[in-house]
Amino acid sequence: MIVKTLFTDRHGGVGEAPYDTFNLAFHVGDTPSAVAVNRQILQQRYDTPPIVWMEQVHGDTVRIVENADLDTISACDAIVTDRPGIALAVMVADCIPILLHDPERGVVAAVHAGRNGTFLQIAPKTVETMAERFGCRPEEMRVWMGPSIRVCCYEVGDEIAEIARKNFGEAYVNGRSLDLPALNLDQLLKAGVKPENIEVSSVCTRCDKNYFSYRREGTTGRFAGLIWMEA
Ligand SMILES: [Zn+2]
Repeated sequence: MIVKTLFTDRHGGVGEAPYDTFNLAFHVGDTPSAVAVNRQILQQRYDTPPIVWMEQVHGDTVRIVENADLDTISACDAIVTDRPGIALAVMVADCIPILLHDPERGVVAAVHAGRNGTFLQIAPKTVETMAERFGCRPEEMRVWMGPSIRVCCYEVGDEIAEIARKNFGEAYVNGRSLDLPALNLDQLLKAGVKPENIEVSSVCTRCDKNYFSYRREGTTGRFAGLIWMEA
């Protein structure tokens, strides 16, 4: 079964500043009609099946998607499906969009890993859910970690830096800067995913103005990561 993945950037949509132009999120204050048009553009440009989004809440809830009847799944930060013909989407502007695929069992997942989700182990919890519900094996999974804020730009308060140091180790904290991609990579490796099966984007969203960045801009749009199996 053919799997498709993609990460959008901020170009090619119809939105006006500060959401210019390809904002895909309704919850950030953009004109709803512009977001709706952008979502149509997304579906047409990449020829995606119906897209399922999440009402992301920076938690660790993983939900199973069985159809595309609802275009938004309530209060969760990871969605999983074994159904071809449903595109799973995660929206971000500095958080990490993580996509997973088990080619053996035919299962895909989309994960929203911000600081809180990372502290709550949302990525390995998604791997666990895929294993428990569908018999997926981590060593067979492929993972794509998309553009996100990187250690060059992610300074946090003393307290958070200390929590990270204590819980995860010196390696993930540089002064007061947190390395979220490294933390997630490590969590996925500990969950049994093989290093050669994990692709990590080198793009920092705060450095690279082709992407929306909450840290850089405050009020801004969201870009997206999508994954689906072709029907
Ligand atoms: Zn940076």
